[in-house]
Amino acid sequence: MKIHEYQGKELFRKFGVATPRGIPCFTADEAVDAARKLGGGVWVVKAQIHAGGRGKGGGVKVAKSPDEVKQKATQILGMQLVTHQTGPGGQKVRRLLVEEGADIAKELYIGMVVDRQTQRVCLMASSEGGMDIEEVAARHPEKIHKVFIDPALGLTGEDASEVSRKIGVPENSVPQAAQLLQSLYKCFDETDASLAEINPLILTGENKVVALDSKLNFDDNGLFRHPEIVAMRDLDEEDPLEIEASKHDLSYISLDGNIGCMVNGAGLAMATMDTIKLFGGEPANFLDVGGGATAEKVTAAFKIMLSNPKVKAILVNIFGGIMKCDTIATGVVAAAREVHLSVPLVVRMRGTNEDLGKKILADSGLPIISADNMAEAAQKIVAAVKGR
Ligand code: ADP
Ligand code: MG
Repeated sequence: MKIHEYQGKELFRKFGVATPRGIPCFTADEAVDAARKLGGGVWVVKAQIHAGGRGKGGGVKVAKSPDEVKQKATQILGMQLVTHQTGPGGQKVRRLLVEEGADIAKELYIGMVVDRQTQRVCLMASSEGGMDIEEVAARHPEKIHKVFIDPALGLTGEDASEVSRKIGVPENSVPQAAQLLQSLYKCFDETDASLAEINPLILTGENKVVALDSKLNFDDNGLFRHPEIVAMRDLDEEDPLEIEASKHDLSYISLDGNIGCMVNGAGLAMATMDTIKLFGGEPANFLDVGGGATAEKVTAAFKIMLSNPKVKAILVNIFGGIMKCDTIATGVVAAAREVHLSVPLVVRMRGTNEDLGKKILADSGLPIISADNMAEAAQKIVAAVKGR
């Protein structure tokens, strides 16, 4: 799960990571009130969407009077903000963060992710903050310093200080930078985060170390332990089909293609998408209906796939193990009738009660194309899409 910058900064402050003072707002008038409350003479009006690159896209603007705050807030609110992370359609801005303007002397980069190979949290730090870190990683990998954190020790003061020096924090500010990194690790660890990023972490004119941006992603499997983080979920930022799928306990991810896929088991779903691509097709989604898919669940899955206007055909690929093929076939037929299926449907079913399942499909009178193996199923679905 992702959260907004201002929510990330609230968590940062709880854990002792220094941030500028700021107030989230939903309207331009609230933004003006926020600027007055914060005081000072320079404010930054920041679009809150779940994507980075807002600065370059025109979603972060400096204002030097309350009037200017109002003007920038009016500009940004409601805009369709396009960044390299939103895709060409952009994302509508519904929330703002009005923040005190910081005096930036230097922009640094800090990131934390779970590294699967070492099974540790990896701290990445670089002197090259504020810009695309992916580009720094590609062109100047030597400018990214890594610490693999021992879970039993946490991030030690020594490691935190050493990495701070490596990225150019002046000696006087090293204790403060090290404390910030240790607080960030504590935040990462205790909230079950999967990613934390501060880009930029800044040194101010007075050599203070402050997190100017925040990005936090959380492991969905750990969310049950953090109701206060679940409360930060912003459904406006999520794919409506994925939200609908999560209501039915379906694992669903939207993709760019036109072949809807309904599969049981994540591994089989991945293999199905690969096979479709191998034969020149493009999957419209990943969809794992799980081991205990009922007819209701199958119907919900069909409705979700069909509400995507890009879907031109549906491939059902089921291995009947825990779930029997006749149960799935009954569900598929019921769902196809209920949704008045208007696109070609290819079904490949193997396993328990396979013959019975195939008979149910054949007897349904529905124009279901049946296939015996994955290659055949993929070829048939690709042909069906091309034929339209
Ligand atoms: P994004 O990464 O989405 O572009 P950031 O929060 O990193 O958004 O902001 C982009 C840039 O705007 C920063 O690199 C920084 O130069 C500037 N900026 C952001 N917040 C402030 C602030 N409070 N004071 C001064 N400058 C800021
Ligand atoms: Mg940033």
